[in-house]
Amino acid sequence: MTTFKELGLNSDIMKGLDDLGFVEPSPVQAKAIPFILKSKKDLIALAQTGTGKTAAFSLPILNQIKADGKTIQTIILSPTRELAIQICADIKNFSKYNKNLKVTPVYGGEKIDIQINALRRGTNIVVGTPGRVHDLIRRKVLRLHSIRWVVLDEADEMLDMGFKDDLDAILAQTPEERKTFLFSATMSKSVANIAMQYMRDADEISVGEKNIGAEKVSHEYYMVGARDRFEALKRILDYLPGVYGIVFCRTRREAQQVDEKLKASNYDSEALHGDIAQASRTRIMDRFKKKQVRLLVATDVAARGIDVNDLSHVINFNLPDQNEAYTHRTGRTGRAKKSGVAITIITPREQKRIRDLEKVIGKQFDLKKVPKGEDVYKKLIDNFVVELETESEEKGVNDKYFDEIVQRLSKINKEDLIKRFISQKFSQVIKENKNVNDLNAEEKKGSEHKRVTGNKKIKINFGKKHGLDVKGLFGLINSSKNLKGVEIGAINIRPEMTIFGVEEELSGEIKKELNELKYRGKRILATITDEDAGPRTFSGRRGGGSGGRRNRPPRGRSKGSGGNRPSKFRSRK
Ligand code: ADP
Ligand code: MG
Repeated sequence: MTTFKELGLNSDIMKGLDDLGFVEPSPVQAKAIPFILKSKKDLIALAQTGTGKTAAFSLPILNQIKADGKTIQTIILSPTRELAIQICADIKNFSKYNKNLKVTPVYGGEKIDIQINALRRGTNIVVGTPGRVHDLIRRKVLRLHSIRWVVLDEADEMLDMGFKDDLDAILAQTPEERKTFLFSATMSKSVANIAMQYMRDADEISVGEKNIGAEKVSHEYYMVGARDRFEALKRILDYLPGVYGIVFCRTRREAQQVDEKLKASNYDSEALHGDIAQASRTRIMDRFKKKQVRLLVATDVAARGIDVNDLSHVINFNLPDQNEAYTHRTGRTGRAKKSGVAITIITPREQKRIRDLEKVIGKQFDLKKVPKGEDVYKKLIDNFVVELETESEEKGVNDKYFDEIVQRLSKINKEDLIKRFISQKFSQVIKENKNVNDLNAEEKKGSEHKRVTGNKKIKINFGKKHGLDVKGLFGLINSSKNLKGVEIGAINIRPEMTIFGVEEELSGEIKKELNELKYRGKRILATITDEDAGPRTFSGRRGGGSGGRRNRPPRGRSKGSGGNRPSKFRSRK
């Protein structure tokens, strides 16, 4: 394992990282940090969201910057205000033990005077959105003649948001001999153009690693009719005690509507999207960070750069158009040593998207059943009973008055009393959830969505030890013209070998075809086997399985019922 120290960072920075609990550099950090420390070249670094890019550019700059509190030596440009604030906060943490370093955020939506004053007091690093930075340059408040390092963070996003002209103007003001670092999740054509235009002799690093937390995220989906999306969301939320997360929507309007409906149903939510004024956005983000609001209903753009570390759930009310955005979204949970759950609500027509996403993330999705009405109220009562069991003392009941009540109720036998008490307390919830429809949609049948029986199993002589994973297996199969699109059942990747289910009629052919293929230059040996594919049930590339899948959400008491308020719904107010 490489350490941050071996990468060449000084002891003050090391102490800061220690406090943050950063032990091992992420792959993009391991590559970018020594490069920025030593090389005279510019750098293009491509890595997904959540891979630790902020530290990758900040740490080596902090290691070299002259922290005099006066000379502006670095400018970091980022697409959104939220992200700029986040980068500033990260830099302050990294440089906690260097009191002389100053970093200043500038962004639109806040009074420019405040920012002008902050700049006049002097700073070493400016982090800002391109529009506002350009504005401050025009006003001659911000001068970039002493800049040594320029960072374009989330360059792809900045260009998508139409900041090209501002970037042109800003970069024109920086000295020729500056170094430019471009960080981006993707290398789009416009990013390549920016690189061509502004970077000299740049090296490129690209890390295909997953999000730092991606290993700890489990992916689930629910399948409902298009009209039942919202109702399903409610039931799913009711079923998740202590949910703290983001509900992603595709458009501003959708986010607004979902939020309004959630509020109307008494859930604790706020909307975050482009139509909301900056000032409110900041306030909402702040309350969300403090967990005063537990659900944020957001669009992709608005959620960019939100860095809340302990989201329990990311919920896709609607899938994003681009698969890549799914990774961005779900990268917001499972961070920082915690595990997270990504939930997606789809309609039967969207099953193919789930199969595609499985390939993109290299992990399987679990199909879950939307709880039935009865499940919902039983779960809520169950949570309450657990609270009663664990609550040791009665609070706030005047002793004498309490005795009187006990006296009065003593005529009713204990069993009756419990029944009355529970039905009284939950009558509304029971009423709301009784006789409600089962929201689970049928799988789409028909030729295109044939279900994989997976009743024959094929074994190949490559497994985890050889670097094979689900994504790799699909890659392998799709690399063959004759196998492309073939459906696969349960997959069991073992250290030495992999076993997966296929349709009986095709098994012979698939075996034959696989034996013609190579994996990483070595011949594949495929056989038909009786061995079990193991406990993990995979849904089939296109079909959406049923078989051994867990059909119900886990019942019973949740350990997470830490709250002490016998609230109706934990995620509700
Ligand atoms: P990106 O900019 O690539 O989306 P960030 O820089 O925002 O990613 O980092 C994602 C999360 O991972 C942050 O919460 C950050 O604190 C954390 N993180 C970054 N580097 C490390 C590391 N080396 N060890 C542990 N956590 C890290
Ligand atoms: Mg980032």
